[in-house]
Amino acid sequence: MRMPVVLITGAGIGIGRSSAVAFARAGYRVILTDVLEREGRKAAEEIVAAGGQAEFHHLDVRDSARTDALVALVEETYGGINVVLANAGIAHKVPLAELTDEKWSHTLDIDLGGVFRIARAAAPGMRRRGSGSVIALSSIMGVAYGWDEHVHYSAAKSGVVGLVRGLAVELAKDGIRVNGIAPGYIRTAQALSEENSLGEAGLEAAAKFIPLGRTGEPEDVADVAVFLASDAARYITGQVIVVDGGLLVGRY
Ligand code: NDP
Repeated sequence: MRMPVVLITGAGIGIGRSSAVAFARAGYRVILTDVLEREGRKAAEEIVAAGGQAEFHHLDVRDSARTDALVALVEETYGGINVVLANAGIAHKVPLAELTDEKWSHTLDIDLGGVFRIARAAAPGMRRRGSGSVIALSSIMGVAYGWDEHVHYSAAKSGVVGLVRGLAVELAKDGIRVNGIAPGYIRTAQALSEENSLGEAGLEAAAKFIPLGRTGEPEDVADVAVFLASDAARYITGQVIVVDGGLLVGRY
């Protein structure tokens, strides 16, 4: 039997990169994609050096034609895509007064449109084979919290929840499961950005009120992605799993 194939967007750094490593360890051939060419190539090389199967392809998730072409190429080369991890995302801090149509659309186009495009591209092949798993990154800011000066981000991440639910129902009869992950505070470039997010000091402060006593690491999310893709999660679809160390249930 051929190796299962996972395609990951935004896989050069952060949660996407850790997920690439975790899927490789779980026996998947990993197709890493990102706008970050250098980081993506390096991540793929490291997986190969460790004995895994991986390759990098440049992909901007705003590009429908390129998304469709890459999915077709991978399917033709390896016989199909078993799992899509729609992870690429940006979180820009913009106060409402400065939130132009352009800035709004830019975030929606990547954080929500990007998930839609890769799911749309992968669905026909998964349908033909009668199986598949699509996993999308939402956020605690999309399922529970409001985030000031990030309303475009919160709107996009809430949109991911609706997208996951709708796709799950539409694709279930073809054996395809669609789920989401809503991370809490995870130590990556995104969360560490002083300009756009909590920054180092903010993450340290957050660790004090997170019930499990620490902020998350990318691996904490990656392992959940591998679980959701696996047969152990065969009866789970349409769900968005919160991975936050107890933050949402513990902060009152
Ligand atoms: P990172 O910023 O570390 O990694 C995201 C990756 O996606 C980067 O390589 C980024 O490139 C890439 N990317 C950005 N725009 C595009 C695009 N148009 N096409 C393809 N790739 C693109 O983020 P995280 O690892 O922290 O986050 C991964 C996902 O998890 C995101 O969707 C994020 O919103 C979500 N998330 C993260 C949380 C956290 O605390 N870290 C919390 C909740 C959700 P570049 O660096 O150039 O932008």
